[in-house]
Amino acid sequence: MTADSAQPAHQLPITSLRGVGAHLRDRLARIGIHGVQDLLFHLPTRYLDRTRITPIGALRQLAEVVIEGEVLGADIVQGRRRSLICKLGDRSGVVTLRFFHFSASQRNALTRGTRLRCYGEVRLGPAGLELYHPEYHVLDGAAAAPLEQALTPVYPAGEGVTQPRLRELMAQALALANATDGPQRALLHDWLPAAMRPDLPPLADAVRYLHAPPPDAPLDLLLRGEHPAQRRLAFEELLAHHLSLQQLRARVRCQRAPLLKAPAELERRFLDSLPFTLTGAQQRVCREIAADLAQPVPMLRLLQGDVGSGKTAVAAHAVMQAVGAGFQAALMAPTEILAEQHRDTLEHWLRPLDIHSAWLTGRLKGRARAVQLAAIADGSARLAIGTHALFQDEVTFARLGLTIIDEQHRFGVHQRLSLREKGCAGTMPHQLIMTATPIPRTLAMIGYADLDYSAIDELPPGRQPVNTVAIANSRRAEVIARIHGACRAGRQAYWVCTLIEDSEVLQAQAAETAATELALALPDLRIGLVHGRMKPGDKATAMTAFKAGEIDLLVATTVIEVGVDVPNATLMVIENPERLGLAQLHQLRGRVGRGRAESHCVLLYGTPLSQHARERLRILRQTNDGFVIAERDLQLRGPGEVLGTRQTGDINLRIADLQRDAGLLGSVQRGAATLMAEYPQAITPLIQRWLGHATRYGEV
Ligand code: ADP
Ligand code: MG
Repeated sequence: MTADSAQPAHQLPITSLRGVGAHLRDRLARIGIHGVQDLLFHLPTRYLDRTRITPIGALRQLAEVVIEGEVLGADIVQGRRRSLICKLGDRSGVVTLRFFHFSASQRNALTRGTRLRCYGEVRLGPAGLELYHPEYHVLDGAAAAPLEQALTPVYPAGEGVTQPRLRELMAQALALANATDGPQRALLHDWLPAAMRPDLPPLADAVRYLHAPPPDAPLDLLLRGEHPAQRRLAFEELLAHHLSLQQLRARVRCQRAPLLKAPAELERRFLDSLPFTLTGAQQRVCREIAADLAQPVPMLRLLQGDVGSGKTAVAAHAVMQAVGAGFQAALMAPTEILAEQHRDTLEHWLRPLDIHSAWLTGRLKGRARAVQLAAIADGSARLAIGTHALFQDEVTFARLGLTIIDEQHRFGVHQRLSLREKGCAGTMPHQLIMTATPIPRTLAMIGYADLDYSAIDELPPGRQPVNTVAIANSRRAEVIARIHGACRAGRQAYWVCTLIEDSEVLQAQAAETAATELALALPDLRIGLVHGRMKPGDKATAMTAFKAGEIDLLVATTVIEVGVDVPNATLMVIENPERLGLAQLHQLRGRVGRGRAESHCVLLYGTPLSQHARERLRILRQTNDGFVIAERDLQLRGPGEVLGTRQTGDINLRIADLQRDAGLLGSVQRGAATLMAEYPQAITPLIQRWLGHATRYGEV
């Protein structure tokens, strides 16, 4: 694809419309309208019925109406706010128009006997039924002014972009799209062959309908977004997203990647160095990955496995393949704590193979940083472990053959791409992405269709499901007593503090307060504290002590969410769980239940609990199945929340809704296959129409 300029070739500049100068252009851009094409797909969120006049005597509260009548009188009144009050009557009754902002000339024009037509919402005010600040105009002459022929659209608007302005621009754009030649013709060109949309209207019909539905249009369907015209556009939008990922994938498949195949002897030594035997599922996934790595085409594989399923060992196996073939590997984690843990685990498993790793995080500074960068650049470090810092430009690998990203949902597609760029001359590294959050099918199709998929669908032997209970904070003392019991019995426990804001400072404070409270209540326990504001050294000390069993109770923020592994910890208390998403709670809970002993998770909720929050905690109590939880999370919170903010920026749907339109996904997938096989010329225009402005689909 050609680089995305600010004005993709297919877009007529918005300034080609009358009345749009640089100022309005910028304001339109702020609400996502960059060209005439975008404008046409800027759809109303609701409609007003201005096709008929309601008799004043028949007005009802909250209705949006058109009325016509004669001014009976207008006065300025000094109430709590100075306002202009105008009485308007027809044969059926009288209503009040109320204005808080008005000019002298406006007031003077409202003389008795003037006929007005007004548009507005009916409310109950001090003077009975009133219209606040109605739009109106004076009717002059005897001839009846024509009414609207179609429902009036209400668009998402923005600063300096009013409804009348949008309607006027839309009329121009729709007229332009009527053209039979020139670049305008492409605006509403239907790229889908008729056979692909049996029950849906052609594109131009759908767009025109939605901007101006007839007076008898089914408003309920339109409001729910289920009208065939809306489904037509949603279908095309989902199709465009799916196609763009397929295209990305096809482009990656044209690249070359190094062949990574370790000698059998090395693999045997690796398996011997593991403190356990791989489960059947781990072995299968390792084989799938090894087969990809032995191809000269870059691997793009998503590895999904519930918390505790043993993804780290699979990652280590892949690292061993890369290093054994003479290349470097990079392993990236979303948090420093998790990266540290990976470093410790992998060093332990890989040291017998003489594989040494470099370490890079944002906090590493000065000489220490320079040393690590040098080791990565000259190839003496065969494995680099770290955080986002590994993405930075200053990091150069000698011979990078494989990148592994842990807990993918925190990284966006952009970052996924930028690590690919770090390959060595003419090749692209293989890429493995690991996540504990199952990607629901609906999301996978438009967010991850560029990836192959492997799943670890089996937990290591001897695991017991975590027994989860929800207890109100008013019973806090009981919960504290329970911690005491567990720790006296030789077990360890977590106490996790949550906050709504993503503020490390506030989180740290909350954890410190909780630690103090618990230390007072449990004087005979050894209590540790971990939060994101601590010095890395102090954090590591606390974690190491907890792992070694020298701390009974670890008070922590959600920094321990992913990956932390202490099998003797069997009790977790999560304070204010109602503040977190289901998937995140499931991750946290996965910190216990890692050994053979029975484990418990106490959700210590604040009261009163909303119906919604109650429902979410109930789901968590009922199932330990990460897949079920992710599906429910998606239903309850929407895709942005499930995937994290970074990802939302990537999957920016204008019209489609993954829940509502899930039923379309099957035909989207089939449609994409048909287009790729039979109508490849339609692919680029479709992607440009819907994603033209996103950088995600830039060059690989
Ligand atoms: P996750 O998939 O959540 O990243 P980890 O890789 O951290 O899981 O593994 C969880 C725990 O299970 C670790 O203590 C790890 O050593 C252990 N483990 C992994 N694979 C096996 C196995 N095949 N048998 C027994 N224990 C295993
Ligand atoms: Mg992990």
